[in-house]
Amino acid sequence: MKVLKIDHIGIAVNNLDDSLSFYTDVLGLKCQGIEIVEEQKVKVAFLPCGDSELELLESTSPEGPIARFIEKNGEGIQHIALQVENIEEALEYLKEQGMRLIDEKPRYGAGGAKIAFLHPKATKGILLELSERS
Ligand code: ZN
Repeated sequence: MKVLKIDHIGIAVNNLDDSLSFYTDVLGLKCQGIEIVEEQKVKVAFLPCGDSELELLESTSPEGPIARFIEKNGEGIQHIALQVENIEEALEYLKEQGMRLIDEKPRYGAGGAKIAFLHPKATKGILLELSERS
């Protein structure tokens, strides 16, 4: 598998609008757009940061993964995403290595990317996302 760069860092927040003002007004980043990803019960704001992005994630449901994350850990970094050249190939390779995957097949992520998560048990405690952008 070939990792190209850190694609984005996903940050779980209680309230997107409240959090955005820090990143835009104080840090001076630009919000490039907001998207709801129904499948993951999440509303995402994209903040490009050089060659990668920060993604602020607000849950759209109390049952969503972001809501559950905040309940357990509070607000903060929820996952790190690596951009790979070919996600199907990467997943196949990781499976061969005996890595535990959350997604065996890529699914649709924010911004039209193909994404898949590795299990934190396989990565020494971080939720790692693979992302392929076309
Ligand atoms: Zn992500």
